[in-house]
Amino acid sequence: RREEEKLERYQPAITLDGRRVEVAANISGADDAAKAVEAGGEGVGLMRTEFLFLKRDEPPGEEEQFQAYRTMVRELNGLPLILRTLDIGGDKHVPYLSLPAEANPFLGVRGIRLCFEREDLFRTQLRAILRASKEGPIRIMYPMVAMPEELAKARAITESVRREVGVAPVETGIMIEVPSAVMMAEQLARDVSFFSIGTNDLTQYVLAMDRQHPVLAPKADGLHPAVLRMVDLTVKAARKAGIWVGACGGIAGDPSGAVVLSGLGVTELSVAIPSIPAVKALLRGLSMADAEDVARAALECGNAGEVRGLVRGLLARKG
Ligand code: PEP
Ligand code: MG
Repeated sequence: RREEEKLERYQPAITLDGRRVEVAANISGADDAAKAVEAGGEGVGLMRTEFLFLKRDEPPGEEEQFQAYRTMVRELNGLPLILRTLDIGGDKHVPYLSLPAEANPFLGVRGIRLCFEREDLFRTQLRAILRASKEGPIRIMYPMVAMPEELAKARAITESVRREVGVAPVETGIMIEVPSAVMMAEQLARDVSFFSIGTNDLTQYVLAMDRQHPVLAPKADGLHPAVLRMVDLTVKAARKAGIWVGACGGIAGDPSGAVVLSGLGVTELSVAIPSIPAVKALLRGLSMADAEDVARAALECGNAGEVRGLVRGLLARKG
């Protein structure tokens, strides 16, 4: 029986009507990669590389980063590894970088913006990533992209580092976590292989509610129809360009979120490692046609509570 459970864990999640949704892991270090595979993860949809930079006195050098990324890609044994480039700033403080204080850090120099201010850090990281890409399927993902010229610049720097390192091109994608990126998604989609929706930040920016605010954060639900409409626009833009869309924010691993996001056309859910088996089981018990109906109705709801009610109704009918 335990053996059976184990085998099932490694099977893909296919809905009752035969539609596959990939379930990948969010990880924050080399030690997590093996755990992600063990839990049934079909790869890593988000490696938050900034974690390698926290709780220390100086940034990790190229060699240290290379070893960490190589360990991950080896542990994954052929499964894809999406490395998100540095996402420092906002809520993630790195004292030794001595960055100027900001009145509104979430609207400040964070994510890809910081990588442009500190191109030295960005290039070192890209060298390490690209060297590790010789060992297995690594994809690069840029965080906090708000406009097409930022993507163009990130790609140009990556390409210049790639020529220096002398490796084959790797697939690149972007986080969709800023409303302007949603509105520009058709243009952005032309230059990447995938999108991954960061519902944590997208929710905070769409609802104008600080994700860490003691009063507001609990009310900032990623299942708000305003956020779901952004997801819908993103998926439609991606389809036009023929690229896939994943989601890696907290609601991807929430049962209601997993149903609605899949129903909107998100085909990869990247979730915390302990949530992987439950999300796969949920998808296997569901028909995509039902998820699509609920998702369509969710777009017409007035608030997140109504959306959650719709999904509860569907799951109750399915027992
Ligand atoms: C997000 O914003 O949803 C996300 C996945 O990234 P992070 O939580 O690291 O900002
Ligand atoms: Mg984010």
